[in-house]
Amino acid sequence: MPNLPRLNQAAPIYLDNAASTQLDPSVLAAMAPFLDVHFGNPSNPSHDFGAYAADAVEGAREKVALLLSARSEEIVFTSGATESNNLAILGTARAARVRGNHIVTIVTEHKSVLAPCQHLEREGFQVTFLPVDKYGAVRPGAVRDAITPQTILVSVMLANNEVGTLQRVAEIAGHCIARDILIHTDATQAVGKLPIDVDALGVDLLSASAHKLYGPKGTGLLYIRRRSPRIRLEPLFFGGGQEGGIRPGTLAVANIVGLGAACELAGERLEADAGLVSSLRDRLQDRIARVIPNAVVNGHPDERLPGLLSVSFPGVDGEALALTLAGVAFGRGASCSAGTDQPSHVLTAMGLEHERAVGTIRFGVGRFNTPAEIDRAVVLLHEALCRLLPTNRTAL
Ligand code: PMP
Repeated sequence: MPNLPRLNQAAPIYLDNAASTQLDPSVLAAMAPFLDVHFGNPSNPSHDFGAYAADAVEGAREKVALLLSARSEEIVFTSGATESNNLAILGTARAARVRGNHIVTIVTEHKSVLAPCQHLEREGFQVTFLPVDKYGAVRPGAVRDAITPQTILVSVMLANNEVGTLQRVAEIAGHCIARDILIHTDATQAVGKLPIDVDALGVDLLSASAHKLYGPKGTGLLYIRRRSPRIRLEPLFFGGGQEGGIRPGTLAVANIVGLGAACELAGERLEADAGLVSSLRDRLQDRIARVIPNAVVNGHPDERLPGLLSVSFPGVDGEALALTLAGVAFGRGASCSAGTDQPSHVLTAMGLEHERAVGTIRFGVGRFNTPAEIDRAVVLLHEALCRLLPTNRTAL
């Protein structure tokens, strides 16, 4: 077990909101009855227990749809964005095999997009993994040029989870629509943080996850556009009729209610949250620049998520920094691929040399952070760097 703070110690400052967010108290309150008295199975609406649960699931579906400007019948509940991405990519590719075998994506996608694409290569599909520029952005024209008559699917993330860079998905979708190619976006880091309208974006499929927007872990969604002819998707699982057969299995009612409540709250607080979180992120960035002048910020300077700050401390090992800076919780590269010593595939793709990549950490500012926490985190960060680089204080 990791060390938890002792009673007389200050709690660590949580700045890892890109990895996961705290459940909002109002989300927890909405979920609680469904872990207790309202335990019915929504697949059995013939009695009141089941009907109540089914109503709650449909209410949540409407709230999710509202946040995305979608229709509720376009939302499929999953176990999280990893499943949504797998379902979107494997499901549409396998169903469209007769039409073509080529997929276009980008090298900085989350592993839950890259790995299914690599899996499809082993099934005989061809995948183009497009490079990104030094900010982590792909040129929409590069996506257009990569499309061939065999292309069936393009998958480009809305916001990167390591550096926060936003992709020009609407422009990319325009190229796909013109060629009648499906376009999927992994919007896990963007939903609840930025206004999203699936029609304005022009995407056919969109993935997101509840635990990135103050909802519970283990629940996500896949938006699938209703259009004519219908988008065909081969399910990943078989054995039940739930979610139109696209995602069978008994629904996680409490979690789904939590996702709905989190989406409703995110919609109400979108502007306020983005304003708060980006001002705290700017404060963090400014203070770091003041006390640690050789720190380098990664990602696009403007086209980026409001709460994310990826910063490199050349000459410092991120792992050592994580151990030294015990009072602040932050991300080491991508939290999902943590545990390996390899420099992150995202930073490498952006052209960062090894020394800068391994000295990179990610702060994720969230709704519950305060200016005092930011200021304290920078003091602790500076102290930790001085301890790690005692002979090199002036360089800091
Ligand atoms: N995509 C992105 C961009 C992510 O940041 C994450 C979570 N790290 C995922 C997908 C996977 O989400 P989940 O944890 O819900 O499986």
